[in-house]
Amino acid sequence: MAHQSLFNDAIKRLDKAGILAKVDPEVLLRLRHPKAIMQVSIPVRMDDGTLRIFEGYRVQHDNTRGPTKGGIRYHPDVSLDEVKALAFWMTCKCAVAGIPYGGAKGGIVVNPKELSHLELERLSRGFIGRMADFIGPDIDIPAPDVYTNAMIMGWMMNEYSTIKRTNCPAVITGKPIALGGSLGRDDATGRGAYYCIKELEKRRQWNPANITVAVQGFGNAGQHVARLLHADGYQIVALSDSRGGIYRKEGFDIPSLIKFKNESRQLKAIYCEGSVCEMVESQTLTNSELLELDVEVLIPAAMENQITKENVNNIKAPVIVEVANGPITSQADAVLADKKTLIIPDILANAGGVTVSYFEWVQNRQGYYWTVQEVQQRQETIMSREFNAVYNLLEEHKVDMRTAAYTHALKRIGDAIAAGGTHTYFSQES
Ligand code: NAD
Repeated sequence: MAHQSLFNDAIKRLDKAGILAKVDPEVLLRLRHPKAIMQVSIPVRMDDGTLRIFEGYRVQHDNTRGPTKGGIRYHPDVSLDEVKALAFWMTCKCAVAGIPYGGAKGGIVVNPKELSHLELERLSRGFIGRMADFIGPDIDIPAPDVYTNAMIMGWMMNEYSTIKRTNCPAVITGKPIALGGSLGRDDATGRGAYYCIKELEKRRQWNPANITVAVQGFGNAGQHVARLLHADGYQIVALSDSRGGIYRKEGFDIPSLIKFKNESRQLKAIYCEGSVCEMVESQTLTNSELLELDVEVLIPAAMENQITKENVNNIKAPVIVEVANGPITSQADAVLADKKTLIIPDILANAGGVTVSYFEWVQNRQGYYWTVQEVQQRQETIMSREFNAVYNLLEEHKVDMRTAAYTHALKRIGDAIAAGGTHTYFSQES
């Protein structure tokens, strides 16, 4: 999709859902235009003494339902268009989950693997230096995304607090526990997807032992959903990371894979170069081969635009759980809808992350911290309730689950926008 706008592709989803949600056309008009965009350049002194300039973005898409919320991504392919699309999805995601936030996203064009720890810290603090007047605990609250982590959130919170001369943990979520992070945030995205799959399991009366699963992307989100499903007896037969994938028809032992991956940093190395290779037989496969496997559940948990018009006809899984944001293009989506593939869409499947981020913000503001059991119980209540609300809309309107999820989101956003008055109200004679 080199020349196609991800943002324009993303907002196409509004059209059908807008009709079903019966929202005022002004609601859709508003959502097609991000509220505010900040673009910055961040000068960083590198360890060898040279100066490098990095591009950074923050997009606040819509704040009708509350302060905007969304992660910060470090990736060489970050672009303003991508950040706009991700911010739009956050608006919809917060509405699906029913949490009082609008949507935002940020990103820096960088390959963090090429930076030393000190360079990464200088870059992260530099980004907040540029953004400090644009964000805030009642304005816009960042969080981690691809290739950013708890330590980076801690640096950013510290930099913001230094600039504002106040201790301000609620400005950012996904922080280390010791700096005001929430218990249960580390696995929240994978866990949220897991709660969705458990609800589907009830509806389809699945026996997990008979359900094969392939997971693309073995980072924060992918690892935890794989771990939780594996613990319930699901057969995780394929996994991949940016360097390639592995397949084993009997399924993998996920806890030991996580341990090895986090030690060796490369999935293929675990089975193909290390000693485990001799103990467990597995095949290597490419990321595109993984997507085309004949499994019951496919979980894209890496990057956007993985299932496109080029490969959609080879996709065999009857159920796809979008843990990544935007892994299916709208063209591919239409083909999958015709095939009756059940897609649990990103704005529902990965909403567990922002839900626990919201809990973190609430705990920071009240200065009172919950147990992990309290966090998980509250998260399960929200995820199960919203999954079933979306599924009921799917059955009521006989539409695909993505359209149902956008309909659900638009009803909430539409109510909030309409509460301030639309054309229908203002054109009435007094
Ligand atoms: P991460 O950086 O922890 O992991 C990303 C993983 O994807 C890594 O294993 C990486 O090697 C792999 N990867 C990168 N490019 C790939 C490619 N082309 N093919 C296969 N694998 C590839 O990131 P994460 O936090 O797990 O995020 C993954 C996805 O989930 C992203 O789309 C992100 O926006 C989404 N998401 C994450 C969260 C969260 O809380 N972490 C919340 C909502 C959505």
